Amino acid sequence: MPPFVDPANVSCPKCETTNPKEIVYGLPSVEMNNAATEGVIALGGFVTSDDSPVYECRSCGHAFGELGELGEF
Ligand SMILES: [Zn+2]
Repeated sequence: MPPFVDPANVSCPKCETTNPKEIVYGLPSVEMNNAATEGVIALGGFVTSDDSPVYECRSCGHAFGELGELGEF
């Protein structure tokens, strides 16, 4: 099992900007909507698969990473 990865240590494969937004899947709570509005996270919607992206770059908007790489979700 891979350890939890701090987004501050993750860099965009396209532009190398670090600290991407984490993409959160499922029905968004009020807190999640607020966090998305503030740009803390990105909402990914309801449908996920092993190749759904995990992070969204704050700089270029590129979505990257795969849920499948993180093990169980
Ligand atoms: Zn980027």
